[in-house]
Amino acid sequence: MSEFALSDQPQHRLEQNVHKPLTKVEVLTEAHRCLYCYDAPCAAACPTHIDVPSFIRKITTDNVTGSARVIMDANPLGASCARVCPTEDLCEGACVLGKDAAPIRISDLQRYSTDWVRERNIDLFSPGPATGKRVAVVGGGPAGLAAARELARFGHAVTIYEAKEQLGGLNTYGIVPFRLPRAVALWEAEQVVKLGVAVQTNVLVGRDVSIGDLVDNFDALVLAFGMGNVPPLQIPGEDLQGVWDALDFISQVKSGQSVGDIGDRVVVIGAGNTAIDAATCSKRLNAENVAIYYRRTAREMTAYPFEYDFAKQEGVEFRWLCAPVRILGEGNRVRAVEFVKTRLELSDNSERPIPVSMPGTEFTVEVDTVIRSTGQSRLTSLLDALHIIHDGGSVRVDQQMRTNQPGVFAAGDCAFRRGVGDAMVVEAAEQGKIAAAAVHQHLLAADESEKWRGESHG
Ligand SMILES: Cc1cc2nc3c(=O)[nH]c(=O)nc-3n(C[C@H](O)[C@H](O)[C@H](O)COP(=O)(O)OP(=O)(O)OC[C@H]3O[C@@H](n4cnc5c(N)ncnc54)[C@H](O)[C@@H]3O)c2cc1C
Ligand code: SF4
Repeated sequence: MSEFALSDQPQHRLEQNVHKPLTKVEVLTEAHRCLYCYDAPCAAACPTHIDVPSFIRKITTDNVTGSARVIMDANPLGASCARVCPTEDLCEGACVLGKDAAPIRISDLQRYSTDWVRERNIDLFSPGPATGKRVAVVGGGPAGLAAARELARFGHAVTIYEAKEQLGGLNTYGIVPFRLPRAVALWEAEQVVKLGVAVQTNVLVGRDVSIGDLVDNFDALVLAFGMGNVPPLQIPGEDLQGVWDALDFISQVKSGQSVGDIGDRVVVIGAGNTAIDAATCSKRLNAENVAIYYRRTAREMTAYPFEYDFAKQEGVEFRWLCAPVRILGEGNRVRAVEFVKTRLELSDNSERPIPVSMPGTEFTVEVDTVIRSTGQSRLTSLLDALHIIHDGGSVRVDQQMRTNQPGVFAAGDCAFRRGVGDAMVVEAAEQGKIAAAAVHQHLLAADESEKWRGESHG
């Protein structure tokens, strides 16, 4: 018999949810605490404007399907968001009860209702009457799925082109399984496909299908291709074995594929949400010493506070004001990382202080695995092919998510820019909805002008 308890085994720990669901009694107690505010601040603080009081009241009357319908109507990614939204900055942060007591546990109630319909295979929506219009969506992550769902409900024929094997984007391949199980992400995607949305997976637009063909063959296009992989650190040794791109690392783990023996000493470079996910994943793969190295301090890091707390609880250590200089190997395998200490300098041209290396403070850390996690690069080739205006890969869109090219819309991380909103699932969902509504308006306007042209020529 194994000397390990099941809870010590990596696969089990990877699937063991960080956050337990509420019991039925807890759900009802929590739901009855809600004041059902008129003009509820929680609904206003939710980027998708879920009618929170309405879905909570439906739980108290045992109409859980109705509750889930309210949630998913406003947010096609409502089941994922129940697990990954930084709620203290959004709905729960706005709850009026939070002034004197604990705010209502909105995300836990949202999880209860969406899990209820998911576990019972209840389908919530149906497609609209066919309009005869065709729309292509490039990317099947949260933004693409939200856009596709809404377009199908308007009655348009939608095709999603997705580079990966499965839909869901970072919900399926990025956010660690112990915060967001794949089953939840795939259920949301299935809900969209069931509306008659066609899906072409394993198809990278720009390689397997030309973007020009999509423009020629569809009445409108929604770009929802997210961002790219982690950019290189541009230091020697990055190509050694045992040096990972954080997104590849997490994707491999989340897909149930082996990442090999990562050893006991893991260094993660960077301090955003992805870095935290890579570090906590390493912990759950039983690495003894996992440390995040960041060239600024806790104050400047981009990870959500709840993620930071969670990483500390999991035993991840943090080393501030250190920048990597080079990665050292033995043969072709990583052995150590050399860092240099940094200090921060204020700059007029940047919102965040600039880290400056301090020569003579170099030090070396022995490691078995290095995970690079310094943000995501931008995907520009499709934008350039379509002459779409972008700022370093962030698509320039108006309030309706329209690009400079008529009939081409963009949503989600591909349109994200620092300082304007957040790269979050709930934002991607809302932008997908807005883009779909704008596509619909565009197609109606095109019909009107066709009709008008027909009449004036007739
Ligand atoms: C590790 C990690 C943890 C995160 N944690 C959180 C969290 O806790 N809470 C939260 O709200 N957000 C979190 N986020 C952010 C969130 O995942 C993203 O903001 C969200 O997924 C953006 O959705 P999207 O549809 O724009 O992009 P994506 O999810 O990236 O989806 C884009 C899709 O487009 C596909 N694609 C790309 N190029 C092409 C092409 N040429 N042809 C066809 N398909 C293409 C990709 O394969 C992908 O499936 C996290 C992100 C990461 C990386
Ligand atoms: S989607 Fe997110 S922000 Fe909106 S109500 Fe649900 S948990 Fe709160």
